[in-house]
Amino acid sequence: MIELRTPREIEEMRPAGRFVAEVLTAVRAAAAPGVNLLELDEVAHKLIRDRGAESCYIDYHPSFGAMPFGKVICTSVNDAVLHGLPYDYALQDGDLLSIDFAASVNGWVSDSAQSFVVGNPLPGRAETDARLIRTTEVALDAGIAAAVAGNKIGDISAAIAEVALAEGYAINTDFGGHGVGRTMHGDPHVPNNGRKGRGFPLKPGLVIAIEPWFLETTDEIWTDPDGWTLRSADGSRGAHSEHTIAITADGPLVLTARV
Ligand code: MG
Repeated sequence: MIELRTPREIEEMRPAGRFVAEVLTAVRAAAAPGVNLLELDEVAHKLIRDRGAESCYIDYHPSFGAMPFGKVICTSVNDAVLHGLPYDYALQDGDLLSIDFAASVNGWVSDSAQSFVVGNPLPGRAETDARLIRTTEVALDAGIAAAVAGNKIGDISAAIAEVALAEGYAINTDFGGHGVGRTMHGDPHVPNNGRKGRGFPLKPGLVIAIEPWFLETTDEIWTDPDGWTLRSADGSRGAHSEHTIAITADGPLVLTARV
């Protein structure tokens, strides 16, 4: 079921968006060569405890997950791109890290992700990594720009795909954006490829996560033996950018904007 929020409810959703943005910024600031993924999870967990927020991940146990997630952030490194389960791994110079975080504040959820290179880029990889990351960011901006009342979900999907395809990246539509509200995942699904003018009509009050993610040289993924982490089929690197946005009469409002 697709739910529309009142302007007042969208106002109530702002603290969750601000908190999620703040945590992503704090985790990124802590990510450096030698820092363990479990330490990054703890940075986020401490902020959750300090602020009385609620993790959307720790007890998350959907049909595709082998067991409850047990951590509060997703850390996907290099060939991992989505749902990366933090484990005992010390980051190295040049790792491409994607962090995904969702939390609930005052009963409303926000969800956001970003990718970046840890420390110094690997020799010979600086440009390819930067282009992959930038393409997810530009595609996210294009998707947000299309998220206006009167358009359809397919307009968001087509805007994302146009950016990716122009850069030569293939698109996997198994995982994409989604409705956000009292829980992390709701209707509608927002695929990263689609046809303009198709799908659910966008109306003021619709709150969705838009989340382009691309792999360098494939659109196939496989699930790591940890039961969660999704990796590229060919070992190439992945990147991911996500914001939670509200469609309003005045245009898209980015609830998880980082300041
Ligand atoms: Mg997310």
